[in-house]
Amino acid sequence: MRATVMYDAGDVRVETVPDARLIEPTDALVTVTRACICGSDLWPYNQMEHTEIGQRMGHEFIGVVDAVGSDVRTVKVGDVVVAPFAWSDGTCVFCQEGLHTSCLHGGWWARDGIDGGQGEAVRVPQADGTLVVLPVGEDDALMPSLLTLSDVMGTGHHAALAAKVGPGKTVAVVGDGAVGLCGVIAAKRLGAKQIIILGRHPDRIALAKEFGATDVVSERGDEAVERLRELTDGFGAHSVLECVGHEQSTVTALSIARPGGAVGRVGLPQQESIATTLTTFFDNVTIAGGPAPARAYIEELLPDVLEGRIEPGRVFDRVTDLDGVPDGYRAMNDREAIKVLIEF
Ligand SMILES: [Zn+2]
Repeated sequence: MRATVMYDAGDVRVETVPDARLIEPTDALVTVTRACICGSDLWPYNQMEHTEIGQRMGHEFIGVVDAVGSDVRTVKVGDVVVAPFAWSDGTCVFCQEGLHTSCLHGGWWARDGIDGGQGEAVRVPQADGTLVVLPVGEDDALMPSLLTLSDVMGTGHHAALAAKVGPGKTVAVVGDGAVGLCGVIAAKRLGAKQIIILGRHPDRIALAKEFGATDVVSERGDEAVERLRELTDGFGAHSVLECVGHEQSTVTALSIARPGGAVGRVGLPQQESIATTLTTFFDNVTIAGGPAPARAYIEELLPDVLEGRIEPGRVFDRVTDLDGVPDGYRAMNDREAIKVLIEF
């Protein structure tokens, strides 16, 4: 089969790899029909050190079940399924608490011998716990939005929950990438009154407004903090969604929470220590977040997607086939595309 492999910063190839196949009785074999490139894939794309063996890529996919192991009960051959960006058993103590990313028997795609989503097929470990069957055909028009349940919509939702978004709240979303845009959707869905997006790409800002953003802050650093305070009676936001992970964006996020507010961090941190100040201590600001347990949110968000109340699939502004994946990385890295959908 063919799959995406990264060998070095900027060196993404599509090549023939060993066919995915069932190994454990709890596995399912899924033929991938849709996948995508993630903003977090751009981190190795910019910084990866050369490797001879290459790194398989991709952690967001939808597909059709091709075969199941003897212990698999909840998915069957022919089912259309979505996979969250981490696999999990669904039964351990952390899965029962809804924190599937800390599953005792789980793991991550595209490492430790597990296939990546940016390939023609995937062996899915812990298939019963990991996969969610979708009640639609494999070419349903809702596929882009359903695919965001793998990661970005669940991650935006997680940021909103960690930042304690609720009815009537003032929300600031730091970052206008796909996760930030989904954070806007999540904030509106949870009843926020004012949603301020911090970003500066015109196409992304336009989409943020369609998703429910009420105000835009295009400044950076201290100027962004000042502008946001102007928009919030000088207090700052109740809820801040940090959707970038860079040091400056984290400092900005922590600086714009109002006393008693909360910051939900879902941008993969690009620095060792979290920037903090005496201000966040004296202001009793909650700092929460981490990798979203996307598996826990799929069932909650799925009805909103199926009934058209949210359209997170609009974050995809480019479609490619598998051969176009290397150029898709380039386009996202050059900010030509917000998020690239891969159709097989
Ligand atoms: Zn578990």
